[in-house]
Amino acid sequence: MRAAVISDIHSNLPALEAVLAAIDGSDAEIEEIWCLGDIVGYGAQPDECAGLVSERCEVILAGNHDLAALGELDISSFSAAAAEAVRWTMESAAETTMEMLRALSPSGARAGVGLFHASPRDPVWEYVLSVDQAAECMQLQSQRICLIGHSHVALYFVREQGGEPLTHGAQAPDATSIDLAAQTWLVNPGSVGQPRDGDPRAAWLELDTDRLSAVFHRVAYEIEKAAAPILESGLPRHLADRLYAGQ
Ligand code: ZN
Repeated sequence: MRAAVISDIHSNLPALEAVLAAIDGSDAEIEEIWCLGDIVGYGAQPDECAGLVSERCEVILAGNHDLAALGELDISSFSAAAAEAVRWTMESAAETTMEMLRALSPSGARAGVGLFHASPRDPVWEYVLSVDQAAECMQLQSQRICLIGHSHVALYFVREQGGEPLTHGAQAPDATSIDLAAQTWLVNPGSVGQPRDGDPRAAWLELDTDRLSAVFHRVAYEIEKAAAPILESGLPRHLADRLYAGQ
């Protein structure tokens, strides 16, 4: 199975369109698209993004922002801007978008790969950014290869076997390729609609579950086209500004 993995779209339609165009134009002959959640929240085009994701993705998980927009999550730990975006999405998104989100779960599996919005230990909330955390998550995961989103940072962690298990990891810039043939893996494709790893370009991951390999990709898109609707809709200005910095 050759899959494209996307995550954390956050109502950013221009970024989603750019990633889908890159997937369609890639020589990887992608057969399926898997989305790890956070389709809405932060950005101003939830309905367009939910529509495209339902149309194009074979697997769709729920993220914490999707659950928050449905009123299914306590958002007291959200930042002020994130909470405001949740309220805006609740008021502005179409009922069909809410219906689509309601059907989703934050974890799943496909082609022998574990899929989690946040982490194998806590599919909704945990940000896996340190080696120690990743090592703990890997002890719990039942699939050798698991994909996660949520932190908006393209990265991987790998646990080497033999003697004492040793876990290490790294951020994964554009064109990083990884060999998944052995060891235990936690891989984050990065974020489509609000990258936070300093590269403002939209992120996606090419995964081949037969050859057991993956390649990280970044795609430039017209950030002003995502920023303008955010400003026009009265969402916090910071949510538009951060897109340019990739933070
Ligand atoms: Zn997110």
